[in-house]
Amino acid sequence: MLPWVVRRTRLPLLSLRCVGCPSESATTGEGRFRVNANGKLLDVWLLVRCVSCDRTSKLTVHERVPVRSLDPAELHGYRVNDPELVASRLLDPLLARRNRFTLDWTGAWRLDTPAAPLDGAWPVQVEVVFEDPVPVRPDRLIAQGLGLSRNEVLRRIKCDTPLRRTTSSGFAFVVMAGD
Ligand SMILES: [Zn+2]
Repeated sequence: MLPWVVRRTRLPLLSLRCVGCPSESATTGEGRFRVNANGKLLDVWLLVRCVSCDRTSKLTVHERVPVRSLDPAELHGYRVNDPELVASRLLDPLLARRNRFTLDWTGAWRLDTPAAPLDGAWPVQVEVVFEDPVPVRPDRLIAQGLGLSRNEVLRRIKCDTPLRRTTSSGFAFVVMAGD
C-alpha cells in the first residue's frame, strides 16, 4: 500500500467579511491571542486581520469561562501565543462555526507522494492520510497525484469513497492498469 499524505504548508486564510472594507479575506498573521481577565472569569480571543485594510478582528475562543476551568498549560499557550495552539484553534471547526468563518485552503497545502514510480505490478493500492483537515475532492487529488486526467481517474480508480464529494477524511483507492 502506497501512502499519500495531505499536509498544510502554512495556515489557511479565513473567509470572513471585513467590517471596514469590502474584503472577505483575513489572516492570523504571526498568530496572536488576547486574554482578558475579569475577576475569576476569562475571555480569550484569537486575533485576525483583514488582508486588505489590516483591520483587526477578534474571534472568540473562550467567553467568560472560570479561570480554573482552563488547563494551566493551555492558558500559558494563550499568553505566549504558542504557534501550535494558534493552529489547533484556527483549525477547530467549533471556532469557525462560533465565529462564522470558513477556511480558505488555497495554496496552503500540498500532497506528498512517494517517489516510487507507478510502473510496478498492477493494480496498485494507495492510502491517503490527512495530517491536516484540508478539504479535497478525491478525483482532483488522485489526478494530481498520478498525473492523470480526471476522465482517466474515473476509468482506472476503484474507490469506496465518492470521488466527487469533498472530504478531509482518509481514504484508500486502487489504481487499475491502463490500456
Ligand atoms: Zn478590510
